[in-house]
Amino acid sequence: MTANRTRTESLCPVCLKRLPAQRIFIGDDVHLVKTCAQHGEFRSRIWRGMPSFDQWQRPKTPAGPPVVSSQGEKGCPFDCGLCPDHRQRSCTVIIEITQRCNLDCPVCYASAPSQRPDPSVDVIAELFRRAHDGGQGCNIQLSGGEPTLRDDLPAIVALGRELGFDFIQVNTNGLRLGRDRAFVKALKQAGLASVFLQFDGTEDDIYQYLRGRPLLQAKCAAIEACAEQDIGVVLVPTLVPGVNTHDIGAILKAALDWVPVVRGVHFQPVSYFGRYPVTPDAAARITLPEVMRAIEDQSGGLFQTTHFGPPGCENALCSFHGRFLQLPGGQVIPMKSSPLDTCCVPPLKAHAGATRAISAVARQWAGRKNTAAETGLSGDCACRTKKKAPCNAGTLVPMDLDAFIDRARTHTFSISAMAFQDAWTVALDRVRDCCIHVMAPDGRLIPFCLYNLTAIDGRGLYRP
Ligand SMILES: [Zn+2]
Repeated sequence: MTANRTRTESLCPVCLKRLPAQRIFIGDDVHLVKTCAQHGEFRSRIWRGMPSFDQWQRPKTPAGPPVVSSQGEKGCPFDCGLCPDHRQRSCTVIIEITQRCNLDCPVCYASAPSQRPDPSVDVIAELFRRAHDGGQGCNIQLSGGEPTLRDDLPAIVALGRELGFDFIQVNTNGLRLGRDRAFVKALKQAGLASVFLQFDGTEDDIYQYLRGRPLLQAKCAAIEACAEQDIGVVLVPTLVPGVNTHDIGAILKAALDWVPVVRGVHFQPVSYFGRYPVTPDAAARITLPEVMRAIEDQSGGLFQTTHFGPPGCENALCSFHGRFLQLPGGQVIPMKSSPLDTCCVPPLKAHAGATRAISAVARQWAGRKNTAAETGLSGDCACRTKKKAPCNAGTLVPMDLDAFIDRARTHTFSISAMAFQDAWTVALDRVRDCCIHVMAPDGRLIPFCLYNLTAIDGRGLYRP
C-alpha cells in the first residue's frame, strides 16, 4: 500500500534540532515521522480514525501578532516572542504566578515544585501590562505551580481586573478552594470569573495514580465552594490511556449533575513533557478523534462526534469543541451541529476566529447566578453517589420562548479538548497557529506547547 504524505517540520526529541518531517497517512490514521542524522527515526501516531484528518482541516488567513518581540533570526521555534512568522494573535495569555505546588504529581507539565521565588505583585502588574500590549483584549489564565498557594491571589485578580481584563480564570487543583471558603469569597469579590479545575475522574484510584493521593472529595468540595460564590467551573481531565479513558462518560455525567456551576469539561490528552527516555508508544496516547468517539460511546450517544467542530482560532488539529443546552428535566440538546463538509467553506480569517473565541470562552466559562441553589450539590455529588443512570436520563419539559432564552443564559454546557504537542508530536506549522500563549518571566509570549516542551533528558526549550 502506498501511503500519502504531506510535509511539515518538527524537532528531534533528543537534541531538539529542527528537522523536516512528514505526515504519513495510513488508512484513517496519520503518523508524524522525522529522522535526525544523529539520533535516528521517530514516529508518532497523531490522528486515529474518524472524523478524518482531511475533513477536519480549516485553512485560515493568518493574523500576525500585534507586538513582535523577536526578529526570528534562528527561525521557528528557537526565537519565539512572538516572531514575525507567527500566524495567530493571543486568545488566552497564561501568567505563572508561582512555581510552588501542594501536590507532587507523577503527571505535571510544569515540573513543579521548584525553588524559584514567586514574582512580586509589581512584577505581575508589569506582566499584565505586557499582556495588554501583546494580547489586546485577551483572556487571562493565572497558573503555576499552584496559584492558590499565594494568599495575595485575590489582590492579583483584582489588579488584573483593574488593568482591564474582563475574564480572569485560575488554573488550580482546587485543594485550597474546598477548604477555605473565605478565600473563595475573596476571589469572587476580586472579580474572578472562572476556575479551571484539574478533575481527572470520578474514582479515587485515578487520582491515586495520577496525583499520588485520593482527591475526589476535595474536588467536590472545591466545586461546592465555587457554586456558593457563583464562580464558573471548567472540569479539566488529563486523559491517560488505561488510567481514566474508561471514565469519560462518568465525568460527563457528573458534570451534567453540576450544571450550571460547572460550565464545561475540557479534556487534555496526555502529552509527554519532562523526562521520558523512550518514545511513548501509540498505546500511551489518545488522539482527538478517539476522544470524540469515546465521548459518543460512553455517553450512550447523548453527545455525538457530529456535535463537535474544529476551532476557529487555533490550528484545527489542536482542538475540538461543542456546546449544549440542558433543559429542565435534564435532557440535553446540541446548540449547533458542525458539518464537516469543508468544500464550500472559504478560508477563515484567523483574527476574526480569535476575537470570536475570546468572547465565546468568556461567555461560556464564567459563573452564573444562584448556581448553588440550582445545582442541588448536596444530593448529587459524585464523591457521595456513583449514579449508574445513563447521561440522557430526563424528560423533555415543554418551554415557551422566554423560558428557553432564560435557560440558555444559565444552562449551556461545553465539551472541548485540546491536544498539546510534545517533542515527539510537535509540528511547527501547528505551533505558528497557536493562540494560547504563556508569558515568560521576561514578558515574551511563547506558545504553550513550546514553553513546556522538553527533550528526553528533561531540558526545556523555553521553561527556565
Ligand atoms: Zn537529534
